[in-house]
Order: sequence, then structure tokens, then C-alpha cells
Amino acid sequence: MSGLVAGYGATEVLHGVSLCVERGEVVSLVGRNGAGKTTTLRSVVGNVAPSAGTVTFRGEDVTDLSAEATVRKNVAFVPEERRIFPGLTVAENLQVGRLGGGDTAEARDPEAVLQEFENLREHPDRKGAALSGGEQQMLAIARALVAGADLLLLDEPTEGLAPFVVRQVEDLVRNLNDEGIAVLLVEQNVGVALELADRHYVLDRGEIVYHGTSDQLRENGEVMDRHLGVT
Ligand code: ATP
Repeated sequence: MSGLVAGYGATEVLHGVSLCVERGEVVSLVGRNGAGKTTTLRSVVGNVAPSAGTVTFRGEDVTDLSAEATVRKNVAFVPEERRIFPGLTVAENLQVGRLGGGDTAEARDPEAVLQEFENLREHPDRKGAALSGGEQQMLAIARALVAGADLLLLDEPTEGLAPFVVRQVEDLVRNLNDEGIAVLLVEQNVGVALELADRHYVLDRGEIVYHGTSDQLRENGEVMDRHLGVT
């Protein structure tokens, strides 16, 4: 995305955000509360209409596509609140993913996807509401895969999860990346971002204030302190 300006009503939240995720990469977008991370993801998937700038995916301008049309391009957004269907079973939630899925050959068979998720495959008949926070996060990601995602936008996937479940989500993201799925990861937890991503963008008050590799970010005490509140 390049020079993205977006907000809500008269309030401009993003003031010209540019970032890129190459094929097969994991890239993080980190920053304090309210910096505009979620708004950036929403702009990519067409939930927020940018007032300037462009979003391109595989060389195609997708800036003005609706949320539904963006999903059909195999870009999937897993929001922070996870939005699985609590009254539907694990298997049914995955079927729903297929309904909204991409229009290329990359949409995946729900059964096959389920087999990749150790925690979910044992109990395909459990209702969404009966799942733990970590299992709900896994299910939300699994549903995006069924829809055929090859760019996953994950909004704080480890939020509220116990440390051992955070490790499971990290393993999952690594496995997906090994399969060639690119990930744009929004994280409050800089440790998770450093663990998973190759490159990092730091967003502060709607502007990218830093871009670097994990080693560069780790060693940059000023950025860690001033923009991320980590010392
Ligand atoms: P957080 O981790 O707290 O979600 P964030 O970096 O993801 O932070 P955003 O959620 O993108 O930040 O919010 C950026 C700004 O936009 C905040 O000031 C927030 O209050 C505002 N905002 C977010 N959603 C809306 C909305 N639907 N309507 C109006 N303002 C909003």
C-alpha cells in the first residue's frame, strides 16, 4: 500500500501509510493503542474506504474493492474479536469459510484444513461457543484458509491468550508461512512480532515512523521505548 489516507467520518486516522508484504513473507505492524493498526488492516480489506493512496495486491489495484471482492482475491482478515459463529460447530464454521471463499483454485477443502489443526480436529462437532480463546483464534484462521487466503491479515492473534497458547499460535503462523502464505501481523506484543516476522513497521499516530528487520528493531532502544513502550 502506498500513501494511504483513511479514517472515520471527519477524523483522519492514517496520514499516508506505505508498506509492503512480499510473497511468502511475514511482516509485522506494531505500535501503541490507537496508532491506527486495525484501521490499516480494515483499509486493505475494504472495510474502511481510503480517501487517498492505493492498495495493490499481486500488481492489481484493489483500493476500491468491497470487502467481499477482496476476499475473492484471496486476502483474508482475521479480526481481533475473531467473529466465529458461536452456535455453529467447528466443522460448520469451516463450511461457512468456503461459502465466502476465493474464486481461484486456492480455496481449500474444510476437511483437509481441519487436519492441520491439532486442537480442532479431535472435536469437529463442538460448538464455537464451547471453544477456548486460543481454539477460537485457530478456528478463525482455519476459516480464512478454507476461503483460500494467501495473504492473511491477523489482528492481534495472541491477545488475551495464555503463554502456552501464544506459542501454539506462533507455531501455526510459522507452519502457514512454510506453506507459502504471506502474513501481515498486527501485534501489541512486540515479542511475538519479533519472533514471527522478518520485517517490522512501527506505526505511531497514523504514520510509519520506523521500518527494519528483527535484529535492527531489537537493537533500536529508542524506537522500542518511544513508539512501542518496550524497554
Ligand atoms: P488498538 O490496538 O487499540 O485497536 P490500533 O492501533 O489498532 O489500536 P485503531 O483501532 O486503528 O488503532 O484506531 C485508531 C484510531 O481510530 C483511534 O483513535 C480510534 O479511537 C479510532 N477509531 C477506530 N475505530 C473507529 C470507528 N469505527 N469510528 C471512529 N473512530 C474509530
